[in-house]
Order: sequence, then C-alpha cells, then structure tokens
Amino acid sequence: MSYTYCLVCFECREALTMGKAYCLDEQMRSVPWTFSGFRDVADGQRLPQSRLMTLLVRFLLEHRLHELRLLPEDAFESVPTDAVEFIEDADRYLKAALTPEPGDGEETALARPIAERFGVADE
Ligand SMILES: [Zn+2]
Repeated sequence: MSYTYCLVCFECREALTMGKAYCLDEQMRSVPWTFSGFRDVADGQRLPQSRLMTLLVRFLLEHRLHELRLLPEDAFESVPTDAVEFIEDADRYLKAALTPEPGDGEETALARPIAERFGVADE
C-alpha cells in the first residue's frame, strides 16, 4: 500500500502535499525513493519532480525553525478542513514574499530553544 504524505508545519498550520512515496517507476524499475507530487489547481497537472523540489525548498525556508512533520494524508481525516492550509497553487506560493528572509539574524535567537531541547545549550 502506498500512502500520500503531507509535510506539515504545526506552528503555521500550513501543509505541502508531497504525494505518494515510491521507489519503482512505471516499468517497475528500481529508482531512488521520491514523491509523486500533487495536482496543481492552476492547471490540474501533476507537478514535475523539479517543481516539487523547488516548492519543498521554499517550504523548508518559510518554516525554518518550526516544528515540521511528514504525515500520511489519512492523519487529516478527523481534522477540520479549515484547520490546515494546503498549498495547492505552486505559482502563487512561489511568488509570495518569503518572510522573514533567511539570514536576517532571527535564526540565532530562535535556535537557542532548539539547543536547549537537545540538552546542548551553553550556560
Ligand atoms: Zn511554520
């Protein structure tokens, strides 16, 4: 059985549907594990791998330092549809301003609680 997975930010309640995880192509040849992506609402076409990776990088930057989890789509069955915003339009998502920009100095301050969580914070 193959699950559809979503990468979710619990802090922002935003999700990127990654699609089904697979390691065999249409001819049943072995390929490195990857995701199938989702159908973009703009044109109804499944995203090419390169486009999905661009979205993934953008999502990771947008939600850096936040709590992210990769969950099977089934995990959302009991969640109200308006509780999480799913990215459905790749162009619109990629054109939106990335706030805050990486390297603005916020990372150092936000990283300290992470170090404390792992028990490696300086005293
Ligand atoms: Zn976030």
